[in-house]
Amino acid sequence: MEIRVRIGPSPTGDPHVGTGYVSLFNYAFAKQQGGKFILRIEDTDQKRSSLESEQAILNSLKWLGINWDEGPDIGGPCGPYRQSERLDIYKKHIDMLLASGHAYWCTCTAERLAEVRKRQLALKQPTGYDGHCRELNHTSGVIRLKTPREGQTVFHDALRGEIKIENSEVDDQVLFKSDGFPTYHLANVVDDHLMRITHVIRGEEWISSTPKHVLLYRFFGWKPPEFAHLPLLRNADKSKVSKRKNPVSLDYFREAGYLPDALLNFLGLMAFSFEDGTEVFSLQDFVKNFKLERVSLGGPVFDLKKLLWLNGRYLREKRTDSQVVSYLQDQLFSTEYMSRIIPLVKERVEKSEDFIEYADFFFKGSVLVDPENYLIKGIDDKKKLIELYELLIERLENLRPFDVPNLETALRTFCEEQQIKSKDLFMPVRMMATGKKATPPLFDTLAVLGRERCRTRFRAALGELKK
Ligand code: GLU
Repeated sequence: MEIRVRIGPSPTGDPHVGTGYVSLFNYAFAKQQGGKFILRIEDTDQKRSSLESEQAILNSLKWLGINWDEGPDIGGPCGPYRQSERLDIYKKHIDMLLASGHAYWCTCTAERLAEVRKRQLALKQPTGYDGHCRELNHTSGVIRLKTPREGQTVFHDALRGEIKIENSEVDDQVLFKSDGFPTYHLANVVDDHLMRITHVIRGEEWISSTPKHVLLYRFFGWKPPEFAHLPLLRNADKSKVSKRKNPVSLDYFREAGYLPDALLNFLGLMAFSFEDGTEVFSLQDFVKNFKLERVSLGGPVFDLKKLLWLNGRYLREKRTDSQVVSYLQDQLFSTEYMSRIIPLVKERVEKSEDFIEYADFFFKGSVLVDPENYLIKGIDDKKKLIELYELLIERLENLRPFDVPNLETALRTFCEEQQIKSKDLFMPVRMMATGKKATPPLFDTLAVLGRERCRTRFRAALGELKK
């Protein structure tokens, strides 16, 4: 039997380090056994998915050096690997479930569902759909899974052994939405079956969905794949890694000057260790030594200090001087980045050395200054100030594209909403992003710095304010 694994990223934001981690473990598992590693774009959430995010995911996996055997081409055709192009397949399958009585239409309104939830919470009952439409034979609305009321669903997890759940605790999950799109659950199971996936290796946040998937396999009369749920990456305080605490976008790591092989090595150390204790290894070594049963379930800590240490070792030991020169030319001082900076600073300089004076903040890691500089006139309450910045940062993080017109609109709208004079906000924002009072025009500067640098600098500045 050919081993076939897949990752199914949803293109709804920045390429996440978690995607790199899960990809690496899937890749190693498949490659070691001569199997196939498949990349499938799970874009069933129409509102949140974007092509830009899809391309960013593909680019970051390529950057890491994880190549897929089947899946979309970068900038090219997607083949059968983009779920939004397979709607008729899911439609056919949901019709099968309706016909066999394992799914039903539901017309409950959002208000009713909210009421039910409120009642359940008040009675300290588990929340979930109350089955109101199960026997009503509607023919419109959304379509739900008709979970058995009795018995148990059991599945085997390669890392955790047998997992058992009472069917009464499995929610009547929505499988098909009224916009004609399936939900993740239906599309994922149908595709894993049709794409002949033998092992589903994914993050542990999906364990609670697995019983629903196992029921679907049973109702379709299909054999489920093997499951293995990897432990989630954690911050040092054991909380789940999130962009509020640490950078988590693969784009950030690329822009901040981490080497892809060092990052990949670091991700390999999450939840896995070589039998002989080797800590510095290539992708090929990892593939050779990987054993699924050696994956450790204790929450792996995504420790940036360790990553830095490893990156330093890669720079010193795995790159020749001339490779470092080319690396810097391609990365920090790339022609593309420089050609966006020069027009902003050229007016102010008289000789080349002056570029350092005026443009240093485009290249620096930290640009922190005294947090006094981040205060906004008229906002004396620190809690309010922090909340305000949290909101602003969130707005900017979600700005797509991160360009001058969008930045200008976002910042000006924010001022209006919060009734802050633009000059009272723009100076502290400039200080956060650059550490300087005099810079080229703010929106241009932010656009050239790019989302990742801005995000990291704003969060670092906010950290100072919180101290
Ligand atoms: N679309 C899911 C995600 O965003 C895939 C989860 C799975 O591997 O089943 O991670």
